[in-house]
Amino acid sequence: MKLPKCNVCKHQFWRGKINTSLWFSNRAIQCSVCGTKLEIASRSRHFVIRPLYIVVGVLLIFLLGILSSLFLPFLVNYNLHYTTGCLVEEVIELNRRKISAH
Ligand SMILES: [Zn+2]
Repeated sequence: MKLPKCNVCKHQFWRGKINTSLWFSNRAIQCSVCGTKLEIASRSRHFVIRPLYIVVGVLLIFLLGILSSLFLPFLVNYNLHYTTGCLVEEVIELNRRKISAH
């Protein structure tokens, strides 16, 4: 696989220049030799750029999920859960009886 070249003078583009064009959608590349501006072909836009953005979006959501699960447990507080017939209430009542018996 070769890096894309200028359609006019066949100058091979630098990888960083191509990456800049990929990450900033619809950004044209200007050839540093002949000055021609070239846009990403619509076929490449559909089969390369769109899947790239979908994969990156899914990875970002996954990464945010992992990061939030690392920090959210430190921000959460819990209260006693009182319901009728709850085991916790029975344990508390038993402890009160033990304390009052002494
Ligand atoms: Zn050129």
